[in-house]
Amino acid sequence: MKIKTEKPISQLRPLEVQCQHPNCEEGFHYYTGPTKRAAKKGWSGGCKDCGDKSIDWERIRKRDLNDLQYTFDSLKKELLRNVCWVNTLEEGVIPFARKRGKNAILQHAKDIITKRIAKIPVGRFDYRCTPTKGKEIVHYAQHATATCCRRCLEHWHGIPQTIVLNESQIDYCVGLVEKYLNDRMPDLKDEPENSHD
Ligand SMILES: [Zn+2]
Ligand SMILES: [Zn+2]
Repeated sequence: MKIKTEKPISQLRPLEVQCQHPNCEEGFHYYTGPTKRAAKKGWSGGCKDCGDKSIDWERIRKRDLNDLQYTFDSLKKELLRNVCWVNTLEEGVIPFARKRGKNAILQHAKDIITKRIAKIPVGRFDYRCTPTKGKEIVHYAQHATATCCRRCLEHWHGIPQTIVLNESQIDYCVGLVEKYLNDRMPDLKDEPENSHD
């Protein structure tokens, strides 16, 4: 499988990436799952396309907010997540974030996680609940950190889809969003900034 675009990876926007489209030769894999079929075939955590097994899942699934660098380095091996981590964000995302400030964004992240992610998924729509376009930086943070849906959350962070998230699991997800914000916008203020442009 290949991404259906001629663009260099550094110019891709999140919307142009399907997480099911790995690009193994360039170092981007597809771990998230497993699908039922892959599980039946004895799939055990490697890239579904090339079998790459370089990720230490146990370490990531300890969910230690003080040991996130390894988690983040591993997340960047999936193409959509890498694009959300590294590439230029859509126009308007950064100004919209500054206008609100970090405290308000994290409060919003908590609302999103609580309303859309914490519940047990029932239908297909519950796995497509996080947009890959628009001005909301929380959505990019969710794709980057695999807190975008319960399938990703289960696979990467080891929280089963069969339970409603508790307070500490919700806080862990928000903690990941916060680290993403610190990484992408190190000069983001806690409080709203007046825009002069
Ligand atoms: Zn691969
Ligand atoms: Zn997801």
